[in-house]
Amino acid sequence: MSAETIIDVKNVSKWYGAFQVLTDINLTVRKGERIVICGPSGSGKSTLIRCFNRLEAHQEGEIVVNGINLHPKMRNVSDVRRNVGMVFQHFNLFPHMTVLMNCMVGPMWINGVPEAEARARALTFLDRVRIPEQAHKFPIQLSGGQQQRVAIARSLCMQPAVMLFDEPTSALDPEMVSEVLDTMTSLAKDGMTMVCVTHEMGFARAVADRVIFMNSGQILEEARPDDFFDNPKHERTKLFLGQIL
Ligand code: ADP
Ligand code: MG
Repeated sequence: MSAETIIDVKNVSKWYGAFQVLTDINLTVRKGERIVICGPSGSGKSTLIRCFNRLEAHQEGEIVVNGINLHPKMRNVSDVRRNVGMVFQHFNLFPHMTVLMNCMVGPMWINGVPEAEARARALTFLDRVRIPEQAHKFPIQLSGGQQQRVAIARSLCMQPAVMLFDEPTSALDPEMVSEVLDTMTSLAKDGMTMVCVTHEMGFARAVADRVIFMNSGQILEEARPDDFFDNPKHERTKLFLGQIL
């Protein structure tokens, strides 16, 4: 029996006005899988994962996330977002709230978790990303790497079925990249279902079950990491790998 499907994407296409940004995307993410998506800038990676939590809407095909079909007339968008954590390139923390409050408000305001429980949960996950001592600071007082770990903790506090990462390390100073990748690796080891847009190929090799290569809005290649890096099939993939490795 195959494991539970968390994200199911069938024949999905999307346009921005007249511009087709996604063409006939097919992808299944099962519980506990770690997927890395890479590809050139503008190839549609962000757009695709933003469709998974309905930050963007697709126009053709079907996306089912944690059993919820994301169709044009859906009314339960908040149910989807509850189940899907997202970590962005630019952290997107609430600047006027402490780190602790950043982690508490989602569970309290969206899921109705009592304050004491939300606080305990926030402290657990701040400990989990190894910055419990920063709980009472404001985001601006933290380094980029620490802010990104808060963003990860904040998402985890919602106890999502899947975590999406959109180039989480590409805005960081080089010396802070590894602390965020280490956090992501440790989440993966704990069995979190993850879809990561990243060009950190060391991470992909170490963690990914599958690497997906996107080009011009299409999935051009999908392979296990060793096959993908050591034996890419398409010329376009070889060119891309030549540029980033
Ligand atoms: P990637 O994340 O791979 O760099 P994106 O998904 O951000 O790619 O963008 C894919 C393409 O869609 C790009 O050509 C980009 O300019 C275009 N695009 C992205 N967002 C919008 C938007 N909101 N409106 C119009 N075009 C967009
Ligand atoms: Mg992007």
